[in-house]
Amino acid sequence: MKEPRALPIPGPLPVERGALFLWVRRGLPLAAAALGFASAALHDAGRGWWMLLGVGALAAAWPSFIRGEAYGRNRAAIMRQDTLWANALRPLARWLRLEDTWILSFCGYNNQRVREAFSSRQAKRALILLPHCIQMARCKAGILDDLQACYDCGLCPVGDYMNAALLNRWEGRITNRSHKAYREAREYRPDLVVAVSCTDRLLKGLTKMPEIPCYVVPLALPHGMCVDTDFSVPHLFAAMESLVQPLPAGAKVQPLVREA
Ligand code: SF4
Repeated sequence: MKEPRALPIPGPLPVERGALFLWVRRGLPLAAAALGFASAALHDAGRGWWMLLGVGALAAAWPSFIRGEAYGRNRAAIMRQDTLWANALRPLARWLRLEDTWILSFCGYNNQRVREAFSSRQAKRALILLPHCIQMARCKAGILDDLQACYDCGLCPVGDYMNAALLNRWEGRITNRSHKAYREAREYRPDLVVAVSCTDRLLKGLTKMPEIPCYVVPLALPHGMCVDTDFSVPHLFAAMESLVQPLPAGAKVQPLVREA
């Protein structure tokens, strides 16, 4: 095993920016509820239907108020509704040229709630998922099979991640296919996933795995999609420090099954 080098202590987690998604997710149903109840008060005809609209809209807004441990317990049902909103309004956001802003806002809203859910009780079994495109395209190190094949040359984020993972004994996986990442996550049964990916894949991942709490870190794409991408290792480091219990000395990490 390589001797890992120490990395700088990470700062606090950055402020999550989920206000846009929250305003839409909560504001639209609350406006519909106000319209329904006001119409029921003003019009005799169809009062029952207006009341029904008001009650239904309130029920749609309610999950956006659930926080903390209650959020953790009801995560799957809440995320199914939230991802429905995120996906339904994505074409409109694309038309307004705000697609990335919309998805990043949804991710920030998700991260904020995951942080609140783990503020009093850190995760004991966390899994990191990273995309293969963070490895420099011309590098031949076989990191998919063995992370320690990385030469730590400093040309891509893999070296820093490898050192942090070895020092802290993090369980992580670098994959080149989304479906493999989902399968790894389901097989490992983590109580928290920390995932790095582009906005499109982050939304897809949150939609496909609503049952697993997932803190997400967006990729930077300085050379376009899927080529020499980059991400903030200190951000990942800060997420692991804040949300995950350090492993006790001598604890064994269950290795993930490697594919042939
Ligand atoms: S840090 Fe260097 S050796 Fe390691 S994966 Fe990136 S380019 Fe390859």
